[in-house]
Amino acid sequence: MPDYIPTAYDKALDAMLEAGIDRPRADELLLAVCDLAIRNHEIAQERVPDNPKGPGEVTYADVHAYPYYYIRGEGREAADASRCEHDYRLTSSCPGCP
Ligand SMILES: [Zn+2]
Repeated sequence: MPDYIPTAYDKALDAMLEAGIDRPRADELLLAVCDLAIRNHEIAQERVPDNPKGPGEVTYADVHAYPYYYIRGEGREAADASRCEHDYRLTSSCPGCP
């Protein structure tokens, strides 16, 4: 077991340095990507459906469209009480759903 496992950031930095991009520019680009990822994450967490479904009414498409709301947010109870066409709870990962 190595005592140091490179992160995606480290790998991207190494690749950029190998490609001849200087260190300050590589850091700048990677930070911009990180900021964008964080912002996208925040936007996803803030998304709430216009018409939230109740227990038993949530579909796979609803969870796919609003994953934070139905998996981690206020809609979790409703999703937990709803099943996909393979009879799995929508809060579980179903081997049959994409
Ligand atoms: Zn399923």
